[in-house]
Amino acid sequence: MAECIFCKIIAGEIPGIKIYEDDLVFAFLDIGPINPGHTLVIPKEHHQSSSTIPEATAGRMFKVGSRIGVALKRALDCDAFNLHLADGSAAGQVVMHAHLHVIPRGVEDGFRWNWRQLKYQDGEAGEIAEKIIAKLKVD
Ligand code: AMP
Ligand code: ZN
Repeated sequence: MAECIFCKIIAGEIPGIKIYEDDLVFAFLDIGPINPGHTLVIPKEHHQSSSTIPEATAGRMFKVGSRIGVALKRALDCDAFNLHLADGSAAGQVVMHAHLHVIPRGVEDGFRWNWRQLKYQDGEAGEIAEKIIAKLKVD
């Protein structure tokens, strides 16, 4: 896609620090890392949403992301890693070429996910599950 910055990084038209490449995926350092080593794994084919990425490529992204996570732990002596993907602006997606974040984490790295835990009303969880399952059957 002509105006996509991540397509341009794959093509070598703008700089990116490559970590890994194969036939389906490309991985490079995030320019604004949560922690040093924060890496993005992207499909070589342009997809805005994770939902349109072919299964083999999506599987490769997850596998490569996990392998990079282990490499981050070994190379940077960190304790753990997060895999994160934002699909859509409301979820925090800024670059519209789907990407999996691999974020090295340390016990005392000072970063916290702003994670909340709501409560379901009686019966609400079952109703919501039924709605979701009905839509899963459409495709
Ligand atoms: P998201 O908010 O999930 O869309 O994440 C987009 C990520 O892309 C951010 O973490 C940015 O720091 C990163 N990013 C944007 N432009 C570049 C670039 N030219 N090279 C590397 N990472 C980038
Ligand atoms: Zn793209």
